[in-house]
Amino acid sequence: MDDSRPRVAVIGGGWAGLAAAVRLAKAGLPCRLFEASRTLGGRARRVPWKLIDGREIALDNGQHILIGAYRETLALLRELGLDPEDAFERTPLHLIGANGLRLEASMQNAPWHLLAMIVTARGIGIDERWAIASFMLRAKKIDWSLDVDRSVTELLKSWHQPDPLVHKVWAPLCIAALNTPVDGSSAQVFLNVLRDTLGAAARDSDLLLPRIDLGGLLPDTARRFLEGRPGAASNAASTVTSTISLATRVQNLLVDDDGVSVASGTATDLGEPERFAAAVVATPPSEAARLLAPMALRDARYRTIVATCEGFAFQPIVTVYLLYRDPPRWPSRMLLLDAAPHVDHFGQWAFDRSERIDESTGMPTPANGTGLVAVVISADGAHRDIEGKDLIAAVARQMAAECGMPSRPLDARIIVEKRATFACAPSLARPDGSTPHARLVLAGDYVADADRSTHYPATLEAAVIGGRRAADALLETVGRASAAA
Ligand SMILES: Cc1cc2nc3c(=O)[nH]c(=O)nc-3n(C[C@H](O)[C@H](O)[C@H](O)COP(=O)(O)OP(=O)(O)OC[C@H]3O[C@@H](n4cnc5c(N)ncnc54)[C@H](O)[C@@H]3O)c2cc1C
Repeated sequence: MDDSRPRVAVIGGGWAGLAAAVRLAKAGLPCRLFEASRTLGGRARRVPWKLIDGREIALDNGQHILIGAYRETLALLRELGLDPEDAFERTPLHLIGANGLRLEASMQNAPWHLLAMIVTARGIGIDERWAIASFMLRAKKIDWSLDVDRSVTELLKSWHQPDPLVHKVWAPLCIAALNTPVDGSSAQVFLNVLRDTLGAAARDSDLLLPRIDLGGLLPDTARRFLEGRPGAASNAASTVTSTISLATRVQNLLVDDDGVSVASGTATDLGEPERFAAAVVATPPSEAARLLAPMALRDARYRTIVATCEGFAFQPIVTVYLLYRDPPRWPSRMLLLDAAPHVDHFGQWAFDRSERIDESTGMPTPANGTGLVAVVISADGAHRDIEGKDLIAAVARQMAAECGMPSRPLDARIIVEKRATFACAPSLARPDGSTPHARLVLAGDYVADADRSTHYPATLEAAVIGGRRAADALLETVGRASAAA
């Protein structure tokens, strides 16, 4: 390796940090990636589960769904040698309820896929179908753009959506997409998501369910690439070697016009600061605020960024995994549940994770013939005050009542992500990723530019876009400086 090459520090090994590091390394800039935990992937990572029978299987820290419109994420996986057609099961958008609701998009292009969905819908009345059609027409007429942002509840009311339809369709869709209760969700971001799915080409609205665990998607492939090891495809190995330091938390950083000094280690055992040509801070916003705070003491422009980063509130996601003797026999791998907290039905969506693996790809089958179900409870709610084992028991009862599963699963595990995503509130202030020093940039799912029509909720796609943009900005700065030297 050419040691004179400028090196970049990437702080945070979630999908944003990994996307940034891959982009930088591809352009010939080696990185040192600092990750505080022992695992890459951040909020989209692999979690091992030792089953009652002694087998160990790989789970995700939470069920993730991608959509066809996640262009940058899918492009990144392809660059790393992973074919999305193998890694995901792709199906046309559908909403199949355990209670008989059935909305299925066809494979035609917009608006026909949506029209077919409305015409063939089951479980909703003719008035409700008209209401969906009129909502979509109205959104298209205003080019999916509101003059003033407001809550999704306010939008649905002012656009005359009947309450039962809100309960059956709009609220579950909004909570799934924005992970924020409808009363506090941004109508503009909801419209952006609808525009890029229901309002776009049919393939954009396709649902992509991972066949492998989240670790096998970006974290493993990016790591192989960054460390210069051959990937799934022979061309997916970096020509420069980057370093990945797990269990290494960045405690402090200091930036000046020529570069960035980074001190990592434990609070009581700080190593010597290391010098880099530039740095990407790809941590959640609260940690970005902490790392930028020393600069804010001297510079009011940093104070604005720190205040914006500190302004985010967060929403939880609970995932309950249930293991059964046999795989479920459902009409779809993803079922919309009839969430009704007043009767202890807290589950919102159920996913059949038993047969994730396509035999043709030769990838492992963790559930090994048994039935593995993931039940998701997004956003804050009445379940917050219930103890883990009681919540598991309630979810198992709900799965028996609604989805015909045996009342006693063989094994169960609950994963609570208290700060799963930022709360996607109306008119939320978000930093654009730049700082007063061109050598220091922010990346993450919370970063967004001033154009609200591009704002997305906390998603893998937003994280990857943020990471790649941050890398592009640094490539320009560091590249310009190297050329001038
Ligand atoms: C349960 C759950 C379900 C979800 N479902 C979906 C879904 O279906 N579809 C979808 O698109 N998105 C989903 N998301 C959201 C998605 O996972 C996130 O938007 C995305 O992973 C955020 O990536 P990130 O890189 O911006 O941040 P993070 O993943 O939070 O990465 C930040 C990393 O920085 C590290 N770090 C923090 N401080 C330091 C420090 N000082 N030094 C070094 N490292 C540090 C952290 O350990 C972490 O690994 C879900 C999230 C959760 C939790």
